[in-house]
Amino acid sequence: MESDPQKFRPRAAIAMARCFPPFMSTILDERLEALFQTVVKRNPGETEFHQAVREVFESLGPVLVKHPEFGTHKIIERICEPERQIIFRVPWQDDSGQVRINRGFRVQFNSALGPFKGGLRFHPSVYLGIVKFLGFEQIFKNALTGLPIGGAKGGADFNPKGCSDGEIMRFCQSFMTALHRNLGEYTDVPAGDTGVGTREIGYLFGQYKRLTDRYESGVITGKGLDWGGAKVRKEATGYGTVFFLQEMLAARKDSVEGKVCIVSGAGNVAIYAIEKLQQLGGKVVACSDSNGFIHDKKGLDLALIKQLKEVERRRIADYARHHKRARYTAGGSIWSVPCEVALPCATQNELNGKDASRLLRNGCLAVAEGANMPVTPEGVRVFLDAGIAYGPGKAANAGGVVTSALEMQQNASRDSWGFEFTETRLAEIMRGIHASCYQTAEEFGAPGNYVHGANIAGFIRVARAMLALGLV
Ligand code: NDP
Repeated sequence: MESDPQKFRPRAAIAMARCFPPFMSTILDERLEALFQTVVKRNPGETEFHQAVREVFESLGPVLVKHPEFGTHKIIERICEPERQIIFRVPWQDDSGQVRINRGFRVQFNSALGPFKGGLRFHPSVYLGIVKFLGFEQIFKNALTGLPIGGAKGGADFNPKGCSDGEIMRFCQSFMTALHRNLGEYTDVPAGDTGVGTREIGYLFGQYKRLTDRYESGVITGKGLDWGGAKVRKEATGYGTVFFLQEMLAARKDSVEGKVCIVSGAGNVAIYAIEKLQQLGGKVVACSDSNGFIHDKKGLDLALIKQLKEVERRRIADYARHHKRARYTAGGSIWSVPCEVALPCATQNELNGKDASRLLRNGCLAVAEGANMPVTPEGVRVFLDAGIAYGPGKAANAGGVVTSALEMQQNASRDSWGFEFTETRLAEIMRGIHASCYQTAEEFGAPGNYVHGANIAGFIRVARAMLALGLV
């Protein structure tokens, strides 16, 4: 007989031990706390991974009560342990002939629902803990899409900034030379992430093709439109985040139209979130990069941002040179800009508790995460306590992986869909993700809490598949 999740209470709630980092201040039930401590012990120093695991554990108490079989079969313990982790040397030569060495990673976390799927990040901050946090999130995000894809993530501590085109190509070729044996359309299908766009995907795919002598389009997504890519992939994460936002607002009988919005970052996700917000009648007044932010009260000139960032690869500070009315603030916090809608689309932990309180004071009523884990646990708590519409990344930014899976479908059937058709599919799937999070939150006694909704709905789908596949 199933127990009533609403009656669930921690058996012996225990306060967080002092040895854990400050973000871990909430209470878990005894069993989950013990599991969490084991994760911390087995993965020392990987703070972002611990943070991502804890955030999911905070939703799982009622699930274990309702589904004791997940406990019996040690689903949580198994889900926290990647199926395979690959760490490799990436040697390459720069333009001056100097040999450089970077470290590459691929964490193949869970393939219960389909081949491993998740992006590659090239950024100097990349280490195993970042890749594992991203890979762990990816399991549940991919499950939420309802599509047949498992979870993985990869990357390298390589800084593409300032590199020539030739250097980028040599790095990508060396990276793929080391990794190609572990990839395949039925095995593991990488995509882009921070620092990895169509150019890098092209060099990676070209090297895979050369090494295997196979034109295996489905081995990587985010390809160019002329060589197997899908329309809307470039726009997908940003558009999808706004579709999710639209659904959250609609559930509150509200809409994007006329809302003052701010979007952090000025990369792939941010640019296309701005585009969709503007198409839906939102007024986007600020965006940023890692040096500072611009505030343009009249509304951002998106064509100029695309020119600066996508074509010329310049800094966002240059925007203010073209538009004297805009104010550039070096090093400041974009979250100080008054708005009704805030979309963090830059990087992890970019919005903390103080930022969240400031946003609320300034009238913010909706936040959807375009980036992965951009709001710290304190920030999340501020938003949830205030009862504003808050969409966590694993649901709100799933549009990228959704469209990647649609790219795989097109590759498998040697087909190419039109823009409108693909965008409609993306919008439908994002609506489905919202509905699943919304309904699951209600079912588990936390109406309106998309964090619990997303974690629980994603977890249950993976857990059921793992049970069905036996002990593998
Ligand atoms: P990009 O590399 O294209 O862009 C990242 C942007 O964020 C850049 O403008 C960068 O500025 C800025 N940025 C980085 N750190 C900071 C900071 N501390 N403060 C302000 N701005 C900062 O990456 P994406 O747009 O692809 O990815 C952004 C986020 O979205 C990541 O968390 C990624 O994991 C997530 N995501 C991406 C998906 C995709 O399809 N691309 C899919 C799902 C999630 P600068 O140039 O100065 O570094």
